[in-house]
Amino acid sequence: MRHEKSDYKYLFGPVRSRRLGISLGVDMVPYKTCTLNCIYCECGATTDYPTQRGEFVPTAAVKKELDDYLSSHPEVDFVTFGGSGEPTLHSGIGEIARFIKDNFPQVKTALLTNSTFFHMPDVRQQVLAFDLILPSLDAVSQKAFVKINKPMVSVDCEMIIEGLEKLSAQFKGQIWLEVFIVPGINDTKKELTLFKEAIERIKPTRVQLNSLDRPGTCSWLTPASAQQLQQVADFLMPLAVEIIARNFPPPDPQKLRLKASSLLSIIKRRPSTVEDLSVSLGMTLNEVSKLLDELSQSGTITSEITGNSTFFRA
Ligand code: SF4
Repeated sequence: MRHEKSDYKYLFGPVRSRRLGISLGVDMVPYKTCTLNCIYCECGATTDYPTQRGEFVPTAAVKKELDDYLSSHPEVDFVTFGGSGEPTLHSGIGEIARFIKDNFPQVKTALLTNSTFFHMPDVRQQVLAFDLILPSLDAVSQKAFVKINKPMVSVDCEMIIEGLEKLSAQFKGQIWLEVFIVPGINDTKKELTLFKEAIERIKPTRVQLNSLDRPGTCSWLTPASAQQLQQVADFLMPLAVEIIARNFPPPDPQKLRLKASSLLSIIKRRPSTVEDLSVSLGMTLNEVSKLLDELSQSGTITSEITGNSTFFRA
């Protein structure tokens, strides 16, 4: 997520985000500190590959800025940890997330992460304080991982998948697993079969497919077409899949209306989330969400929030 510059040193934005509403960004590491050097990175090439976690920016100073901003801006929906590097490198991440929860309980916290530290039990413990985790997983074979994410030497793909699997078993909030599609590298049948196996182990709430929408660090990288993204989504179904690439067109309303009666018959029997409906109906989250919007606007269905989920009922 890209945030606008602000008067603060560690805070960015807020911006209106497609996924999170009004989102205030927190930068937990100096530019550009990361364990990966992804070919699509919006921040540019990694300049600092640390091998150890640490207090890359002062925890107390970040808390002070958050306190100052959130005390006078009640409209913020999410504080999102991300920015110009990998936020879980910061050893104070749990303390800062808990600080927000304790002092501004109306604000939710989200973590954008490259997933390279979840094999460490103390990191998993620290991130339990978040409401939503958006981890990336762009490759499930080491070959594709090296091509797309260019990791520092000690990071391997299976370690990331195992870490995500353990995190998912512990974490009570939602996990939205983001996969950046690089045509010809991670969308082959062989890679997608491995992806499906890995995702079934991780059990995220939803899988989000993304693609290039602005220049990355690599000149040969081209965006996946809408058709390529839809083919990946079809392959991964019945997992709850959403295509979040900006170049993806909205669903065809006529095609959706044909599914309206099936959707209604499900939610008449039991209240369901958008993810439940995506799996039951074999539709992408984009299609289910659009249909739910139309049915809500016509007053045919209602929704209610329970815990971290929104349930729809007829
Ligand atoms: S993990 Fe994120 S910050 Fe690090 S290189 Fe990849 S896209 Fe950039």
